[in-house]
Amino acid sequence: MSLTSPALAGKLAGLQSSAIRDLLKLTARPEIISLAGGLPDAALMPGERIAAAAEAALRDPAVLQYTESPGWPALRAVIAERASAKIGRSVPVGEVFITHGSQQALSLLAEVLLDPGALVVVEDPAYVGALQVFRAAGARIVAVPLDADGLRVDVLEELLAAGERPAVVHTVANFHNPGGVTLAPERRRRLAELAEAHGFWVIEDDPYGELWFDQPAPAPVASYSPQVIRLSSVSKILAPALRVGWLIAPEKVCRAVELLKQGADLCGSALTHQITTDLLTDTDWLTAHVDTIRAAYGTRARALVAALRTTFADRVHCTDPTGGMFIWADFTDGTNASTLLPTALEAGVAYVPGAAFAVTDAYQTSMRLCFTTSDEPTLTEAVHRLARAATTSA
Ligand code: PMP
Repeated sequence: MSLTSPALAGKLAGLQSSAIRDLLKLTARPEIISLAGGLPDAALMPGERIAAAAEAALRDPAVLQYTESPGWPALRAVIAERASAKIGRSVPVGEVFITHGSQQALSLLAEVLLDPGALVVVEDPAYVGALQVFRAAGARIVAVPLDADGLRVDVLEELLAAGERPAVVHTVANFHNPGGVTLAPERRRRLAELAEAHGFWVIEDDPYGELWFDQPAPAPVASYSPQVIRLSSVSKILAPALRVGWLIAPEKVCRAVELLKQGADLCGSALTHQITTDLLTDTDWLTAHVDTIRAAYGTRARALVAALRTTFADRVHCTDPTGGMFIWADFTDGTNASTLLPTALEAGVAYVPGAAFAVTDAYQTSMRLCFTTSDEPTLTEAVHRLARAATTSA
């Protein structure tokens, strides 16, 4: 009998469990108002409409069968049509690949596009799920900061001028998680130009684009170049449980993703693919449904921003998002958001400290606040609790 326990792969050494997932466990207590989770509001998910679509779908035995690895053909056709309208060119079905949420698209793309040690440029603060994927792929990660207009494309240009050669630049151009900001149109165009000039892929990770409050998000980065791979999903407009996401990429990328998808899970679920097809093609219903989410989140975002400004005045600076699910807030007096968290939990409010999303900058005084799952009075109460915690700890 061997006394040495078998080893795990060396590439796992740098991986940590997601700080957000660990924290979510703590914030499930009912007395805590959680601005931490980053979840869409389940009360706004169309359960009955999904049930009706499921019942109709199940009349076709094909939905219980394995489907094609790139996805249920009817769903690929709908996504191709929607993507064509969004990107402004005709997207063939061969450029559409359905994945198990857009997270799987990220993970498969990392395998397809990155050799170990390849350079990946991410945003700082970053989407933690992307960081995990790129770290697991053994990439070298360099961060470029965000400002109010999104990714600092000028800083990326400096890196390129200094000789850095990224394989991939990852951006959450719309309503950033966690930064709450949106990439300005001029920067989108420039980013696509740089991708073509320097031969790198851009991954435009866009799960939040439909969640605009007053006006639609700017034209996608992908509308400026075919070197931009677009990712999206129905998690934020229908339900995360469907696990339907997709990537739009040149066919050679889709063919490589297909080989890996076969190894990962053979194919997605034809049942949830058909349910999603039904809902996405019921366009009047869909428009009304997404409008309801936009209106609710817009009202909640405005209430949270107003409560922060009234309660903290200059002591907290926050983004004023035009869509999405998040506000990024900074204590201007140096309060450390990580060390404040236990006091805040005692006061009955949870958030995610900025440090959880940090790549280069430490973001010690920052926090991500998610406004989707609480109504306006609850958000105001959350801010009062945060103020009490910040006063106690001062
Ligand atoms: N990208 C970003 C920026 C996200 O915030 C998330 C999750 N909220 C995802 C991708 C993955 O979402 P899903 O797999 O549900 O599509």
